[in-house]
Amino acid sequence: MKIVVLGGAESGVGAAVLAKVKGFDVFLSDRGTIEEKYLETLRKWDIPFEQGSHSEDIILGADEVIKSPGIPSSAPIVRKIEDNGIKIISEIEFAGRYDKARKICITGSNGKTTTTSLIYYLLQQAGLNVGLGGNIGMSYAYQVATCNYDYYVLEISSFQLDNCYDFRPDIAIITNITPDHLDRYDYKMENYVRAKFRIIQNLRPEDCFIFDSDDEITVGHLSNIITKAKMLPFTQKGEVEQGAFLKDDHIVVRYEQDECDLYLEELALGGKHNIYNSMAAALAAKASGIDNKVIRNALETFQPIEHRLEPVLSVGGVMYINDSKATNVDSAWYALECQKSPVVWIVGGKDKGNDYSVLYDLVREKVKGIICMGVDNAKLHQCFESIVGTENITDALSAEEAVRKASEMAVDGDVVLLSPCCASFDLFKNYEDRGKKFKEAVRNL
Ligand code: ADP
Repeated sequence: MKIVVLGGAESGVGAAVLAKVKGFDVFLSDRGTIEEKYLETLRKWDIPFEQGSHSEDIILGADEVIKSPGIPSSAPIVRKIEDNGIKIISEIEFAGRYDKARKICITGSNGKTTTTSLIYYLLQQAGLNVGLGGNIGMSYAYQVATCNYDYYVLEISSFQLDNCYDFRPDIAIITNITPDHLDRYDYKMENYVRAKFRIIQNLRPEDCFIFDSDDEITVGHLSNIITKAKMLPFTQKGEVEQGAFLKDDHIVVRYEQDECDLYLEELALGGKHNIYNSMAAALAAKASGIDNKVIRNALETFQPIEHRLEPVLSVGGVMYINDSKATNVDSAWYALECQKSPVVWIVGGKDKGNDYSVLYDLVREKVKGIICMGVDNAKLHQCFESIVGTENITDALSAEEAVRKASEMAVDGDVVLLSPCCASFDLFKNYEDRGKKFKEAVRNL
């Protein structure tokens, strides 16, 4: 059987290695340039490949094509493969065929990495032999090829779910669904929602589906579909029979006949959004049979992840927070929502068609000054100038300039929050680069 892998980065190279290990005739094709570290892997495993173009004669001779999630289904080569009746699957689908481990899979618009990392930490603390992968770190396929885990915790993006058909998690989580990446879904929210819900399409009655029942889009879609899985909602409004909910100063996690209480004050991660993430993680742990004591301890000792509401440093009584990963309006909403001190807010970048109006109330209540860090800041001025006043909004073209201007606006007791709502590509390589430059500038103050 001939397998062609499209895309030569983490996902594609992992899939190619697994195909090789399983004895297939495999070829990898990337229209761009393959990074040196991936070239090394391909050579090490003796996998034939090409870069800079797609050889149609080879690609269209495949029995099955594994497409990397970064390649849109509208790409001409993908269209041609489809027109030739060749099946296209994702790396996740392919790796799932060869993996007997129990799988906890997390998708959603925001909170995937946080929830995935929390669950991985929980399972590690419980002493389980567990791998972490998907959209984080090493690809799932590469690990299936080279490791032998009993459990996987996998962060799965909607692009990775697009070409999943038989893949089945034991526990599936949708953290929430808000508009994002609509350019890849014909600007139709329904298509994006459906892609996310592919994560539950094969669940059996003994499998669990963990979801945010405060999220109208998730609940709305659920009412239109049938799933046999055990339903485990989490909510901050009211009580549920099975699932997680808030009661006074603690979270109650109910699974089958058992309950676990988690005190909000003791949770390592602050903010309303992290209550949701902690609920989802605790439910996954409970459904994996982990002891209450271990769950409590793990959620208390978890270390915040870089670029997600990451406290950087306090300088002159001003706390600097790096939330560079907040690349959409919803994530910035949660970042502002949980601030208890007056905020100097660093926002901006490449706007993805944002509707800022949902932030107006929070900005009115919490924000004393705004630094617009982007090439084109006109929309931000238009939206926020009248709320904070013209004298309290200014522009910056680098992290250094933004931090300097923010430090001039902030006084003892304030917070400087980088939570940009936007992609980073206008001034930075990616959100990590933006966060790192912000932290460097803060340390140099
Ligand atoms: P993802 O992997 O889905 O992008 P992350 O965990 O990396 O999610 O968090 C991305 C951004 O969203 C961060 O700014 C974070 O503070 C914020 N965030 C985290 N969890 C949630 C949530 N449950 N709801 C809304 N925003 C969240």
